[in-house]
Amino acid sequence: MASTDTLPLPRLAPSPEVHEHAWLVESRHATSDGTVLYVRCTECPARRVDLVDRPQSPPAALSRTVLTPSER
Ligand SMILES: [Zn+2]
Repeated sequence: MASTDTLPLPRLAPSPEVHEHAWLVESRHATSDGTVLYVRCTECPARRVDLVDRPQSPPAALSRTVLTPSER
């Protein structure tokens, strides 16, 4: 007998996208366009590349947020 019930999607793990990432600079590199910052979130596996073209300006996201698989 076939059931027409649909299974609810499991929503147990909070999505990494729902919180405000707490970026921590892992490394920085001076380039001709400015300083490139490699940052990662302290609370989830998200990483991003930022560019600071002037010391006073806030970092601009160069890349989209990338989620790295957690280490096993
Ligand atoms: Zn995060």
